[in-house]
Amino acid sequence: MITKAILNALERKKLKDWDKTYWGFDIHETMVIPNWDEFDVPTEFYPHVLEVMQMLSKREDIVRILFTCSHPDEIVVYKKHFKALGIKIDYVNENPEVHSVKYGNYDKKPYFNVLFEDKAGFDPHTDWLIVKNLLLELGFEE
Ligand SMILES: [Mg+2]
Repeated sequence: MITKAILNALERKKLKDWDKTYWGFDIHETMVIPNWDEFDVPTEFYPHVLEVMQMLSKREDIVRILFTCSHPDEIVVYKKHFKALGIKIDYVNENPEVHSVKYGNYDKKPYFNVLFEDKAGFDPHTDWLIVKNLLLELGFEE
């Protein structure tokens, strides 16, 4: 459950006195509703994606990473679209801030504390609202 991952990340941040946590976001069928159109990049969000991403974008202690199979030209479209809506993206498909250490090799797998990914159980129809309510409960600024 995504709420468990978020609470764990924030708890560990506090315990270990980390400066930030790293949150990954798949795009298709997680943030954005697919349109199956080869020539038109889909940009329509599921409900509550915008509010959640805008809330997270206000936080200096959260690094936002897109984790996507989009082509480079599509990534350009998404970054522009997200920026215009106040969604800040720090990296795409990489986390250059966390390097390999003794207990983990991050040469090929980017380091995340939280991952929003429909193929790993995130339900875009229900879970964005659950996340939004959790963040509001935790005192995140709207
Ligand atoms: Mg997906």
